[in-house]
Amino acid sequence: MSDTKHNWTKEEILEIYNKPLMELLYEAATVHRVNHDPNVVQVSTLLSIKTGGCSEDCGYCPQAARYHTNIEGNDLMTVPQVKAQALRAKASGSSRVCMGAAWRNVKDGDEFDAVLEMVRTINKLDMEVCCTLGMITENQAQRLAEAGLYAYNHNLDSSEEYYKEVISTRGYQDRLDTIDNVRKTNVTVCSGGIIGMGENIEDRAGMLVALSTLNPQPESTPINALVAVEGTPLEDEKPVSIWEMIRMVATTRIVMPETQVRLSAGRTQMSREGQAMCFFAGANSIFAGDKLLTTPNPDVNEDMKMFELLGLNPQKLFTKKVQPQTVEATDSEFESLGEKPKWTRPEHKIERNELAKEKGKLIK
Ligand code: SF4
Repeated sequence: MSDTKHNWTKEEILEIYNKPLMELLYEAATVHRVNHDPNVVQVSTLLSIKTGGCSEDCGYCPQAARYHTNIEGNDLMTVPQVKAQALRAKASGSSRVCMGAAWRNVKDGDEFDAVLEMVRTINKLDMEVCCTLGMITENQAQRLAEAGLYAYNHNLDSSEEYYKEVISTRGYQDRLDTIDNVRKTNVTVCSGGIIGMGENIEDRAGMLVALSTLNPQPESTPINALVAVEGTPLEDEKPVSIWEMIRMVATTRIVMPETQVRLSAGRTQMSREGQAMCFFAGANSIFAGDKLLTTPNPDVNEDMKMFELLGLNPQKLFTKKVQPQTVEATDSEFESLGEKPKWTRPEHKIERNELAKEKGKLIK
């Protein structure tokens, strides 16, 4: 039985985060070595299967329809398009394809059926498949599991308190409920957040309390540094320093020892030395590919050069968990229920979101 601690308090986490850096790095690297091979890093490719036009108001996101940004939207990709991209990702060394759709929540129907077919197709290519599609019900999670989904991503983004300063169109509990629905299946949970949105260190610790007290803890936790995009409410936020990123990664590693900690958005702003420090501090996963949904990411060849320089090896397929079986649509045990779940809409006013929306209206 795992002896992972599930009752971390904010005070305990702050104490870790604020340790002298050398102490923090030593402790994190020690925990990392006990639980993982320090020379192995898992590589995922993120694929935006449906971009832009989202009804939500996430303050960091250029895909929210209400803000005016320069992203090019697209309708849901087709299954052959996704298969071609997955084959490219596999050839360039990725073990996982993560498909993201700019949806508030999954709706039963043709588009979800197409996503299920994409999951089946990629699993049959012997790759780990992850989806990030917004809120999902238990039935939808079961259908994804049956199709062969390996992981479902649903980020908590920040602490519960600061979440209200960033998003007004859904509540924190919706996020936790979706994670709970995924946990009722054999699909692994990927959940993390973003730093650099104007939150304070207590909020970062608060997010880690929320993640680390889940039992089991998420199998994977992305730590993103905000990439401030013009036109979004957070466009003026300054990039976080590499030291903050290293502290966040190290603290995550200590409180979530078995989780794969993923260096996600913001890597283009980090030097190789900075990324190397993050790997030393316990990061053991990255996103590869020149785009992360809509924001820039280092070129895959550059990443492979960095791996060579640091003596890192990409993680082999299905190292942490066996490959799920794919059940064909015709043999499915779970049918589409046509559910219309009532996910919340707090709709409180967030001034900077309102301003960005008004600005967006004027430009459009
Ligand atoms: S983060 Fe997701 S839910 Fe929020 S606006 Fe962007 S695409 Fe929509």
